[in-house]
Amino acid sequence: MRLPFTCMQCTFSDEGNSHPPYPKYVELRDDGRYEFTCEKGHTTVTVLQEQKFEVLFDLGAYAVLDGYYREAVASFTSSLERFYEFFVKAVLLEDGLDEATVAETWKQVSSQSERQLGAFIFLYLKCFTEKPSLLRPKQTTFRNEVIHKGKIPSRDEAVQYGQEVLDTIRPILKRVKTTFPKGVEKTVFQHLMNSRKADESQPVGTMTIATILSLNDGSGKEPSLEEALSEKQWWRDRW
Ligand SMILES: [Zn+2]
Repeated sequence: MRLPFTCMQCTFSDEGNSHPPYPKYVELRDDGRYEFTCEKGHTTVTVLQEQKFEVLFDLGAYAVLDGYYREAVASFTSSLERFYEFFVKAVLLEDGLDEATVAETWKQVSSQSERQLGAFIFLYLKCFTEKPSLLRPKQTTFRNEVIHKGKIPSRDEAVQYGQEVLDTIRPILKRVKTTFPKGVEKTVFQHLMNSRKADESQPVGTMTIATILSLNDGSGKEPSLEEALSEKQWWRDRW
């Protein structure tokens, strides 16, 4: 998965108006920070606004398109785990807790996904006075077989698993956006700040991309994973 970047200085120069520069494709990065230098030597720094869970779900979708079904299952799983982290942070920040304290406390659970799931389940219960819908045990078993036992899934199995992850995240995402808007905003802001360098001297742009699981999307459209895959394939065929 690569992201297209265009040099803004070239685009808005007189020369750029007559010959808009071609975008340069940059590999996806963990820190969400993209720095590139165009042929004329202009350096652009851009941070990607999308949360990890959004990007990881799309990575899973691209893995399906590429025929890497084990990798797809791993990315969908990571997306769900990072979504639980997003939920916990948004709820705590909504409550006015200090961001540094939340980040410091998260470190206590950051290397154990079962602890994170536990934190999510009880925080969800406290917020909505009901237990959350989780992945069905059948899918959890399937995931463990793929990730820990080397099972090679079929395309259908990987897509079905991805669809269940999508169905698990979507209703909770909707709920967290409407119930904890301030917390969501703070979490997004914190994510953007983390992608910047502390001693940033040049202007930093923000970029947003269309993802299947989208925090920004207010359209209410909820395409199935298969529909989203067809759309991605359509774009890919035209690159
Ligand atoms: Zn340039």
